[in-house]
Amino acid sequence: MSNQQNAYLKAMGIDVWIERSPSNISSPETSQTEISHHVESNAKQGKPIPTQVHTTEPLIVPDASVNIDQLDWPALRSTVAECLDCDLSKSRTKTIFGAGNQTAALMIIGDAPIAEDEIQGEPFSGQAGKLLTAMLKAMGYQRNDVYISNLVKCRTSENQDPTIEEVAACEPYLVRQIKLVQPDLILVLGSVAAQLLLKSKSTLSRLRGQLHYIEDINIPVIVSFDPAYLLRSPNEKRKAWDDLQTAMKELSNIAASKK
Ligand code: SF4
Repeated sequence: MSNQQNAYLKAMGIDVWIERSPSNISSPETSQTEISHHVESNAKQGKPIPTQVHTTEPLIVPDASVNIDQLDWPALRSTVAECLDCDLSKSRTKTIFGAGNQTAALMIIGDAPIAEDEIQGEPFSGQAGKLLTAMLKAMGYQRNDVYISNLVKCRTSENQDPTIEEVAACEPYLVRQIKLVQPDLILVLGSVAAQLLLKSKSTLSRLRGQLHYIEDINIPVIVSFDPAYLLRSPNEKRKAWDDLQTAMKELSNIAASKK
C-alpha cells in the first residue's frame, strides 16, 4: 500500500496499522444493524419505513412521449430538469442530475440528493461527500475521475428515503445515465440504494462482498455503505475499505481483460 493511499485511508478515519481481527470481519448482524438503525430512526421521526423495497414489479416509464433511452447527455439533463413525474418535483428547488466523468470506468450511485446537494448543485456534498472523496482517493481516483449519481434526481422531504414509486419514476433517467457512461463497474452506496436498484430483499451485509447485475444491464455492481452511515458508524469504515479493495480488484481485472 502506498504512502498516499495510507494518507487517504487515514482521511477516511481508518487506522491502517491495526491488524484485522475476527470482530472486524463482515457479519450479517452488524450490517443488519445499519438497516435496523435506519428503520428505527425513521420510525422515531415519523418517516416512512422503506418496506416498499420488497418488490419485483416492472418499472414505470414516466413519460411515454419522451424516449429516454435515445436521449444524449444535454437532452437527458434538460429533460430531468423539467421533470414533474413524481411528487418529489413539488418540493425541490432544482434537480441534481449527476456529476463527474461521463466516460468513467467507475460509477457511484447513492439513493437521493440531500438539501446540501441542492445548494451545491451536485450529489454527495457536505460531510458525507467529503468522506466519499476520501474513499475515492484511497482507491486512486479524484472525484472528477468517476461519475456520481443517485436513484432519484430530486431531494426528498427532510432527507428521508425515496419511495419505490419515486425510484420507479426516476429510474429510466438513471438507466440512461448508466448506458451513456458505460462504466466498467458500478459501486452502489447504502442499503436503500442497493435494495431498490437490485430489487432485492437482502440485507446490506448479504449484498456486500459479491458481484451483482442490475436487471438488463450487463455491468457488474458492488455494494457498500452509504458515507452518511459511515459518519454515524465509523467502526464500519474498515468493512467499507474491504469493499473498495474488492472494487479496485474487479476494475483491475476488467482493465486487464480489455488489453
Ligand atoms: Fe422527475 Fe426523478 Fe425528480 Fe421524480 S425524482 S420529479 S422522476 S427527476
